[in-house]
Amino acid sequence: MQLFAAMIISLSLLAWRCGPTIVALAASDTRTASPTSAPDSQLITITRSGAPSRKASAEHFTGSVRIDPLFSANDPARTSGSSVTFEPGARTAWHTHPLGQILIVTAGVGRVERWDGPIEEIRQGDVVRIPAGLKHWHGASPNTTMTHIGIVEQLDGKTVDWLEKVSDAHYAAPVKAPVPASGGPATAAPGASAQPTRAQQLMGDIAPKLADLTDTVLFGDVWARPELSPRDRSLVTVSALIAMNRPDQLRSHLARARDNGVTQVEAIETITHLAFYAGWPNAVTAIAAAREVFQKK
Ligand code: MN
Repeated sequence: MQLFAAMIISLSLLAWRCGPTIVALAASDTRTASPTSAPDSQLITITRSGAPSRKASAEHFTGSVRIDPLFSANDPARTSGSSVTFEPGARTAWHTHPLGQILIVTAGVGRVERWDGPIEEIRQGDVVRIPAGLKHWHGASPNTTMTHIGIVEQLDGKTVDWLEKVSDAHYAAPVKAPVPASGGPATAAPGASAQPTRAQQLMGDIAPKLADLTDTVLFGDVWARPELSPRDRSLVTVSALIAMNRPDQLRSHLARARDNGVTQVEAIETITHLAFYAGWPNAVTAIAAAREVFQKK
């Protein structure tokens, strides 16, 4: 809470610097009039703690999540903030913020991940900057509660676009080792992280531009577009790879399809269906890939 207190103090200082008339009014008020005689816009507002929490919607969160609104956007300012507490295992769905987000971890140990990036551990005192439009999620670690203050700016009245939920299998994936504070800001940008993305691993050494395009354009942009759900994109992609008889790419896309909610029964049904359109041999090759992916899980 020290960080938050510091933020409030600096905000107050900012208001004082920008508006000397506020101070003058306040000073005269104490001598000549009731403080309520000044216009609302020129009074310092203190919202007392202890307002009731609300439970986060099950539509956009997994597990038990409590939201304590701290401040709303006060036109023309666009910034609002809430304190959010995630019980162990709880997390947001995937989502984006039109103008980005700042997270200040005030208690516990949690996790944050960009789309297709490594899952990173965040701890009390850490400050996380989420770029505008970047698909991501955040939440507690499996065994520890995490509370963060989330600060967002609204664009046309909107602060968030919700996407699909983070599956249990995806959430349980290994976490990237934390970067020590002396190493500067920990970043999950492609190419800059200690744990390279799949594209970086596959071809980053010999074809860095293609790896970068794969990370930023294909997965960072096209796959993140909300017009199709990731599950639907997985079905389309898997179907194309089966039709082209590309078992290497099919294996990794079947694993992604599984993480995006496609069940084994649905994958096998897709392959059976495609036997009639893409050919029997392609379907049989795809069944072998599906066996590997779904039975390895
Ligand atoms: Mn967020």
